[in-house]
Amino acid sequence: MATETITSTMTGEEMIALSKKHTLFEWSAQAKVDPIPVARAKGIYFWTPEGKRFIDFNSQLMCVNIGHGDERVIRAVQQQVETLAYANPFMATEPRARLGAKLAEIAPGDIDVFFFTNGGAEANENAIKLARLATGRHKILARYRSYHGATAGSMMLTGDPRRWASEPGMPGVVHVLDPYHGLEGGWESAEQSLAMLEEIIQLEGPHTIAAFILESVSGTNGVLVPPDGYMQGVRRLCDKHGILMICDEVMAGFGRTGEWFAINHWNVVPDLITMAKGLTSAYVQLGAVGMRRAVADHFRDNVFYGGLTYNSHPLACAAALASIQVYEEDRLLENARRMGKLMSDLMTDLALRHPSIGAARSIGLFGLIELTRDRAKKTPLAPFNGTSDERSRSSCARKGSTRSSDGTRSSRIRRCASPRTSCAKDLESSTARSTSRTRPCSKVRGAVGVTNQSAIGDCEAAAAVTSQSRNR
Ligand code: PLP
Repeated sequence: MATETITSTMTGEEMIALSKKHTLFEWSAQAKVDPIPVARAKGIYFWTPEGKRFIDFNSQLMCVNIGHGDERVIRAVQQQVETLAYANPFMATEPRARLGAKLAEIAPGDIDVFFFTNGGAEANENAIKLARLATGRHKILARYRSYHGATAGSMMLTGDPRRWASEPGMPGVVHVLDPYHGLEGGWESAEQSLAMLEEIIQLEGPHTIAAFILESVSGTNGVLVPPDGYMQGVRRLCDKHGILMICDEVMAGFGRTGEWFAINHWNVVPDLITMAKGLTSAYVQLGAVGMRRAVADHFRDNVFYGGLTYNSHPLACAAALASIQVYEEDRLLENARRMGKLMSDLMTDLALRHPSIGAARSIGLFGLIELTRDRAKKTPLAPFNGTSDERSRSSCARKGSTRSSDGTRSSRIRRCASPRTSCAKDLESSTARSTSRTRPCSKVRGAVGVTNQSAIGDCEAAAAVTSQSRNR
């Protein structure tokens, strides 16, 4: 029987019906999913089969950092698939060799050895495996306000409520508090947070702790930019106790904050660093864990007990190399810094003018607004891990906005993640829409889209698409 493979011949309704009938949507009760049918994408836009155009303010799942349909990446992947689509990971290939060398060039400090995976969760799985093998210790510290992926081990590293349904899981993970305690609790100083961390290290026994994994800037838990001194302090504590520091840069890496890696903002070199998403800008799936020489040297004579059929996949490595070239040719890091300043100004202005904004923060083009129903009392729009009527009645939900994967816990937070570039017109237009859609206090509507990832020179403002967490 012939199989129909050209999906663009389907209507949006057909795509939705068949997808819902035969595939499982993630993090959702299936009866509640309401997907946008997507037929094609280019630059900052994507289209439904019927031709409805959206600005992709979320760059899909915060991953298409360079924008859609870049010919340079497409050509690189095409050439690679024609030359060598796949090779057994015990073999050496040119894209693998070149990507390792390129990442060594852009990674912090002396991180110059990489293990390639299929995505971010696997990168974190392998990071903790490497840390455990290298130190001979078993415990891993992780933070509560974190997401590290949905595979068995990474799910246990994850601190937010997405972990709960998978418990009990891998033993040995100890969660610690972040410097941030929500809209009501606010921020504590780096010193206070580090003191708490060291107390936990002492109570757990430093000699039992292999690693501390943390997002350099936490993503889905609220774009949490650590106070100055925190990352340096974590580095010092890890050094003092022989604990490896693992920075998860799966979301924050690759230009989103204006640096190749967010940890560069604090001049700290972690022992291990994980990445995915922007590494290939999602043209092909790829993750990686990078390690400093000292960690890599452990595995010169000791076996690395890890492997994946698609480790160092040639297509993915070729996509990453081409994507990195785009960041460089188009000077996207500089652009994220420049446009990040504008976005920060717009967000500050919006926060000053709007009573429903409890907090606004950003770093580069990675930003977030927290909504409140009472600014004086700092009451979040919805309780922790809960939702609110306002959210459910959100106008942008009806208008078919893109929705991010905030999952079950962060209904009070509107994330506006912007990896690549923006032009002033995009940012201003999206901020204006936020103002017009966001009503005060109990009448808050759910639309706060502040950023995008437009292609350079292709910044005509269109129907704004806002980042909205899904209620699950
Ligand atoms: N780490 C962070 C910080 C993430 O944001 C994500 C996904 O959003 C992951 C890990 C998991 O990556 P993946 O979905 O590619 O497995």
